[in-house]
Amino acid sequence: MNNTHVRATFRKKRIGVLSVQGAFIEHIHLLRNLGVDCFEIRQAHDIAHSFDGLILPGGESSVQAHLLKELQLFEPLRNHILQGMPVLGTCAGLILLAAHIDGSGDLACVESCDASQDKHTPLREQGFGDTETFSQQSVLDTRAAVHGFQTLKVRVCRNAYGRQLASFHAQAPIHSLATASSSVNAPAQSHLMQLTFIRAPKIIAQDSCVETLVSLDGYSCAVRQDNQIACSFHPELDAEVYLHELLCAAS
Ligand code: GLN
Repeated sequence: MNNTHVRATFRKKRIGVLSVQGAFIEHIHLLRNLGVDCFEIRQAHDIAHSFDGLILPGGESSVQAHLLKELQLFEPLRNHILQGMPVLGTCAGLILLAAHIDGSGDLACVESCDASQDKHTPLREQGFGDTETFSQQSVLDTRAAVHGFQTLKVRVCRNAYGRQLASFHAQAPIHSLATASSSVNAPAQSHLMQLTFIRAPKIIAQDSCVETLVSLDGYSCAVRQDNQIACSFHPELDAEVYLHELLCAAS
């Protein structure tokens, strides 16, 4: 498929961007630059008409989870995801999708994750359902617990990449398996994706059905499980369109 064909297909897609809190406008700008029809999801009536895909932006996952329920968006959006609607969750959006969430939004979490860092063996060696390693920090995890969709079989530790002041940029290639299995034109083999991490969750374990798209220092930071794509970083801040293109291609 050539680029023109891919972009022409995207134009027929209608993507809803959860817009109750956080960095949603950057996703809307990026999608519009790709020629994709998108709309903001703020109220239940916004999703009354059919749409093809969903973006869950970065922000504060505990606030977003609360608002989703208050606005009666939680169940309908969860049902869409369970029924196979393509979804891209970035940062807080990854947390909303995760089946298991460790850590609260406060400093205790960062410190407990830091303290147990050396106990976190890279995900390939670690069982997805393993809760023992994290029992110590779970004592600290009750204050701002997030009750999200729990549809993506990963375990994340909130804020484990550091606090706001520890935000950082990195670069990493896209795994060749991910590019081989997609109908989207892959970036050049040499392309290093720009990764911006802001109070980001770390994927500390994943089920074998979850494919790694991008990894950094032995940890997955972008993953895919069937219709669900999620990442710890903010591709919308660096105009990194690959994950959005995957979402649109799947829609
Ligand atoms: N730390 C935030 C949370 O726990 C996520 C940060 C982000 O989306 N940049 O929800």
